[in-house]
Amino acid sequence: MERRYNFNAGPSALPQEVLDHAQSELLSYQQLGMSIMEFSHRSKEYQKIHDGANELLRELLNIPDDYEVLFLQGGASLQFSMIPMNFLSEGQQGNYVITGSWAQKALKEAEKIGNTFIGSSSQADDFRSIPDLGTIKYSDQDAYVHLTSNNTIHGTQWKHFPKNDQSRFIADMSSDILSRSLPVDQFSLIYAGAQKNLGPAGVTVVILKKDMLKNIPDNLPTMLDYRTHVDKKSLYNTPPSFAIYMLSLVLQWTKNNGGIQAIEKLNAEKTNLLYDTIDGSKGFYNGTSEKQSRSSMNVTFRLPGKELEDLFLKEAEEEGFVGLKGHRSVGGCRASLYNAVPIESVHALCDFMHTFHHKHNI
Ligand code: PLP
Repeated sequence: MERRYNFNAGPSALPQEVLDHAQSELLSYQQLGMSIMEFSHRSKEYQKIHDGANELLRELLNIPDDYEVLFLQGGASLQFSMIPMNFLSEGQQGNYVITGSWAQKALKEAEKIGNTFIGSSSQADDFRSIPDLGTIKYSDQDAYVHLTSNNTIHGTQWKHFPKNDQSRFIADMSSDILSRSLPVDQFSLIYAGAQKNLGPAGVTVVILKKDMLKNIPDNLPTMLDYRTHVDKKSLYNTPPSFAIYMLSLVLQWTKNNGGIQAIEKLNAEKTNLLYDTIDGSKGFYNGTSEKQSRSSMNVTFRLPGKELEDLFLKEAEEEGFVGLKGHRSVGGCRASLYNAVPIESVHALCDFMHTFHHKHNI
């Protein structure tokens, strides 16, 4: 069957090999006569997948031993609440670096729990950039400093992360985890919804430094207390077993394809192809984010005028390109180039963009 060129922002493209593998054992996992969806989450077959995914993620991201890896539900959005509930005590403040809509949502949830502070914001330039590291304000009252490593909607990404001895950095890495090498030890907590680089929607990965577990209040609802999931190794209640199975296949695929270093290199090639097409068009296509803050995952751009933009999206759709419409809050166009998007799809998109440009040159 012919597959479409999928540039969706999430849920998004999954590797063809992973889908083929999942299909081959959909009805009978390892020829055991049952789908993996039908196994008990307490079975040895599922346990192996669960533990295997945890170990593979640790291996691929080089996660140190003093960190826990959790598989939770509720999406990245539930982490917006769990983080302040667990770590923001009275007399402290949650320090938020605001680089886009998802960071704003995280801040809004923290405001319901305790005191907050905006250490830096790029709202004044419509979130077109990532702040200079030196301009972020810290305070002795900071319980943690929260940032969004890649801004899915605005097409910006941190190239370097802040570092200092006093701060506990927490990062929402939903849209770029596993796309590049990562200094895990610069963070106290990293979280990511799976539905971009990790697998299908349904599981959220949390990487948590063990010393964060010390000061959690005792009155939290059981499911919202990180210690519950640490103690039970993410098996306190029924986990999203199929999503974790798919995650394990995606992680294996990542490893088989050379791991993070090889993926990062390929991602850079893909991103360069598309930005070169945009920059080479002499203003027909315009990248919306500042060059030094450009995302390698979500390439956002505009065409001259809404009419032409609508036509571009319509013709792209007819040619088999999916997901190129920008987020409804900002408009324009966006191509998401997550790990599973093959370079051939990017070549095809660039060819289409050249053709469209020549046809509608103004
Ligand atoms: N954070 C970022 C950076 C995202 O891109 C998204 C979703 O696209 C979210 C958070 C919200 O994730 P979820 O839908 O898993 O709650």
